[in-house]
Amino acid sequence: MTLSYRKELKNLIPYKPGKPIEDVKREYGLDKVIKLASNENPLGCSEKVKEAITRALNDLSIYPDGNATLLKESISKKYNIPVDEILPTSGSDEMIDLIAKTFIEKDDEAIMADITFPRYAATTNMMGGVPVIVPLKNYTHDLTAILKAITPKTKIIWICNPNNPTGTICSEEEVIDFLNKVPQNVAVAYDIAYGEYVERKDYPRNSIDFIKKYPNVMVMKTFSKAYGLAGLRVAYTIANKEIIENINKVRGPFNVNSLAQIAAVAALKDEEFLKKTYKANIEGKKYLYQQFDDMKLSYPPSEANHIYVNIERDANETFIELQKRGIIIRPMGGTWIRVSIGTMEENRLFIKNLKDIL
Ligand code: PMP
Repeated sequence: MTLSYRKELKNLIPYKPGKPIEDVKREYGLDKVIKLASNENPLGCSEKVKEAITRALNDLSIYPDGNATLLKESISKKYNIPVDEILPTSGSDEMIDLIAKTFIEKDDEAIMADITFPRYAATTNMMGGVPVIVPLKNYTHDLTAILKAITPKTKIIWICNPNNPTGTICSEEEVIDFLNKVPQNVAVAYDIAYGEYVERKDYPRNSIDFIKKYPNVMVMKTFSKAYGLAGLRVAYTIANKEIIENINKVRGPFNVNSLAQIAAVAALKDEEFLKKTYKANIEGKKYLYQQFDDMKLSYPPSEANHIYVNIERDANETFIELQKRGIIIRPMGGTWIRVSIGTMEENRLFIKNLKDIL
């Protein structure tokens, strides 16, 4: 064929976010497969969400509210922020895309950690930009090195707090010191996908307030993790009105589907479900830490719902061996894997099989 594709596509590969359960079942002829690979909520979602969605099933022939009015109002009320500083999206994945489309032109630089969520680099490449990679220090964002990496070409800095896959955090003091030093013409995308899981007291709890003092900051939250709505695709970003207006120029008109909007409104009201999720995660984490300690495997302490573990053995081979036994985890290169904290039954099954393999 003689079609002419954008030059940037040459350097891109289709993004594969881990193996789907259905593929593994078919490949290995298994009836039951558990996935501890995408940091989902093993408790499912709030019953209030299910009730709200059921009530909305008669309205599927109507387009969603392109302005996500009720969802924005719920977020506005809960966090006391004006509606024009809120932008719901189809997962934070969509927002990462939209941010790249809004800020990155050819040869512009975007700074991010190594290792961190891979979509920051992928979307930068997609726009013909250059990902500037700053290694983690002690498994945590090295904010001093990130500041040093800023050049006149820097358009955006990605901060993932807690970081995926390491589960590590930067403290409130560190983040504020960093934001004070970032030039105002550089945007900061501050991704708190796992913020609800953090135990440490020095974590910035009210990061939404950052946007009041720092108009260059975007705070990204998702309903996919602690709220248990990954399958519906819904998230939102809080940012200065001017940023939201510009991102709205590259957004599709009906980007968040109607069930997702209704589910998110109901999810915001169910604080009890979040508390249950937080507790279950701590219990699972404690169990996994204990088991890894017994097995003499090292891991940085995680403030998220996943653990980054050095299994001292080829991660890809172990990933395949576990898959054959009906367990999907995420190999991270070398001897490191990332495992999501599941139900206690899933955690035990994972450990039993890991012990068999190692
Ligand atoms: N940011 C981080 C740090 C993530 O780990 C993920 C999902 N793994 C996302 C964003 C995207 O989440 P979603 O699109 O489901 O909101």
